[in-house]
Amino acid sequence: IKPHAASVFQPQDIDPSKLVLEKTKSPKTLKKPEDLVFGRNFTDHMLTIEWNETTGWLEPRIQPYQNLSLDPATCVFHYAFECFEGMKAYKDKAGRIRLFRPDKNMARMNKSAARIALPTFAPTAMIDLIAAFAKLESRFIPEQKGYSLYLRPTMIGTQKTLGVGPPGSALLYVIASPVGPYYPTGFKAVSLEATDYAVRAWPGGVGDMKLGANYAPCIVPQREAMSRGFQQNLWLFGEEEFVTEVGTMNFFVALRNRETGQKELLTAPLDGTILEGVTRDSVLALARERLVPEGWKVEERRFSMKEVAEASAEGRLIEAFGAGTAAIVSPVRAISWKGQLINCGLKDHEESGELTLKVKSWIEARQYGDEEHEWSYVC
Ligand code: PMP
Repeated sequence: IKPHAASVFQPQDIDPSKLVLEKTKSPKTLKKPEDLVFGRNFTDHMLTIEWNETTGWLEPRIQPYQNLSLDPATCVFHYAFECFEGMKAYKDKAGRIRLFRPDKNMARMNKSAARIALPTFAPTAMIDLIAAFAKLESRFIPEQKGYSLYLRPTMIGTQKTLGVGPPGSALLYVIASPVGPYYPTGFKAVSLEATDYAVRAWPGGVGDMKLGANYAPCIVPQREAMSRGFQQNLWLFGEEEFVTEVGTMNFFVALRNRETGQKELLTAPLDGTILEGVTRDSVLALARERLVPEGWKVEERRFSMKEVAEASAEGRLIEAFGAGTAAIVSPVRAISWKGQLINCGLKDHEESGELTLKVKSWIEARQYGDEEHEWSYVC
């Protein structure tokens, strides 16, 4: 039987060799590093790649940073056909630009895109293009440690239709924003409010994808927490009140086992309700490599707010931190839960636990290439 013509059609994948480079004629003046505000300043250029269902991916373009022009009926505005990534480019001591585990971000982006009927792409082709783009913008990355270029790959459905269906066209673009250290004057421990009246994600849902639609509903609970003096909210799940994530970071807690006294580093498992953080994965890998030989147990398992509260009350809670690309780690001082304030192991004058500091330095060493490692991708 001859295959039907349509079934042998192979849409074009992204082809970095077809890159069209249009350089800006009006380069921006650089901001002073200390004046950089997260996500407010952008570089000279953007990377864009259009897709349509008949051709596949068209030629990639690096062009001057500019507005998009979209019809008001474009499907992204109505049905949230949007997914994104958050990753960084770092400048090493030799002035080379490095990405950190970009394969993880591209795999996650393909998973997000596929879930909302947007096209997927060859991850290595996209890494090549992002590397070329980051290199082109290297003058925006300050030399000092702690600075980096935040990269925001984004994919949107661009079909002009109010019909609810798979988008017949899409746009993949990457913009870049130079950023400073998250804690410019050293760590500042945050206090959290456990949210018990809203859930971020649920089994069978899409909380393990980086869809824009997951983020807007999180702002009101965060604002509520802030109005009561907390920096972030802590997302719980289910009647057992399992601890899942903190704001837009994965959550880790270090405690001593009640029976054995063994030190344990815990984080929630990837059960579909947790974003598969690249930082989370890196913390786990490093902890397994470096803490387990020291006698620690490193576990991905469900744990409840009650378990955290008991560990705190019994003096077994060592420290807690959030983990994500923006801050790497964010030490947690206390959690407000059921009218109690649960202390997370820090003394009043401390802004971070020892383990949190260690984890940050381990990850930074690989991000900035101080420790040569396969996680670091030289552009
Ligand atoms: N959870 C959520 C909900 C997030 O948005 C992020 C940021 N991407 C993370 C966790 C941390 O992921 P990563 O370490 O890949 O930045």
